Amino acid sequence: MHLNKIKMTTPIVEMDGDEMTRIIWKMIKETLIEPYVELKSEYYDLGLEKRDETNDQITIDSAEATKKYGVAVKCATITPNAQRVEEYNLKEMWKSPNATIRGILDGTVFRAPVLVKGINPIVGGWKKPIIIARHAYGDIYNAVESRISGGESAELVIKDKDGKVKCTTKISAEDGVVLGMHNKDKSIESFARACFNYALDRKMPLYFAAKDTISKIYDGRFKQIFEEIFNKEYKAKFEKANIEYMYTLIDDAVARIIRSEGGIIWACKNYDGDVMSDMVATAYGSLAMMSSVLVSPDGKFEYEAAHGTVTRHYYKYLKGEQTSTNPVATIFAWTGALKKRGELDKLPDLCAFADKLEKTTLAVIEGGVMTKDLVPLYSGKARGVSSKEFLAEIQKQMTIDE
Ligand code: NAP
Ligand code: MG
Repeated sequence: MHLNKIKMTTPIVEMDGDEMTRIIWKMIKETLIEPYVELKSEYYDLGLEKRDETNDQITIDSAEATKKYGVAVKCATITPNAQRVEEYNLKEMWKSPNATIRGILDGTVFRAPVLVKGINPIVGGWKKPIIIARHAYGDIYNAVESRISGGESAELVIKDKDGKVKCTTKISAEDGVVLGMHNKDKSIESFARACFNYALDRKMPLYFAAKDTISKIYDGRFKQIFEEIFNKEYKAKFEKANIEYMYTLIDDAVARIIRSEGGIIWACKNYDGDVMSDMVATAYGSLAMMSSVLVSPDGKFEYEAAHGTVTRHYYKYLKGEQTSTNPVATIFAWTGALKKRGELDKLPDLCAFADKLEKTTLAVIEGGVMTKDLVPLYSGKARGVSSKEFLAEIQKQMTIDE
């Protein structure tokens, strides 16, 4: 049908996934990418069966390939729990692929909503996207914790490099709970650089927020590292791009964000980012409209949707039903990756194609055709269709526009 398919020079790393998103993945590739692009991809099957078969080596290989080529696109994957171990008869409860990939790339996750006319944010003043930058290492996600009772006590012991006790701090000797957590200077530095680079890339102002008034040493260290790196490496670049960096307290940041009209990158510590990204996604409409990119400090990019494998829809699909699973975030993962590949390889046609696919996808929704999850959010007259019909409509519009 298309004689002059767009050529690529370097492959993108393609990470396939699980359940409903795996089905959608194939449909997007076949109907919206391959008819227009001579797709060069290095394929890694991160579906749970393959991860189990390879003892999860495939996940590590896909992350290493991302380091090599610089751009990846990832489908949602199952993070196994006890129930999945049984369902898939797994050898082990494998780690979350996202955690493995983030660990290898030492990245920061940026989440941005896909905005559509007719789907209005719950927060009336928001006109532009708010992008959450979430630090993806440490704090309570790598913590140790315990209950203590009956006269037990807990202490924090710091030893020097030879194992000699340097100091001991009492945490508590009351019945209750205790927690010990950490972060690494190196990881915080990577996080700061990823945020500054991303702000420059998007030409958007950056807030970083923590609670250094209460956590003077722990959160204070985050604040200090951001400040030092900004002053030393980024201040002049920010001035030139006419954008601002600001540190503020997390509670102040929440108030400012709600009052703002958007157009801000909000850097959050791990837990704050986990919570705030769900709040921001919901306030903009739906998790199915949230795109996500992992950026490493040395400029490697992995694009994905922010939602999971949509298991409930998959079980319907297996019974032969048509589902109305929203493919927008997954389409935007593909366009994000292709656009970045085009930028890096200086392929303007590839960038233009990715732009056009994004615009066409939004135009279809703005024309009133959408998956059923968006119908109640849409202010005009909407027709809720299946994923298949929705993708077909996008393809039709892509062809008309040629
Ligand atoms: P989920 O897959 O995001 O789905 C939760 C619910 O949200 C769905 O049942 C559906 O609601 C709605 N939803 C999410 N995405 C949608 C879409 N694209 N279109 C329409 N509706 C959508 O979360 P989950 O059910 O908690 O997790 C399922 C699996 O995904 C788990 O095994 C988890 O480990 C994995 N997961 C993977 C990632 C990742 O790879 N990045 C992230 C999160 C979860 P209705 O049922 O009401 O329609
Ligand atoms: Mg979460």
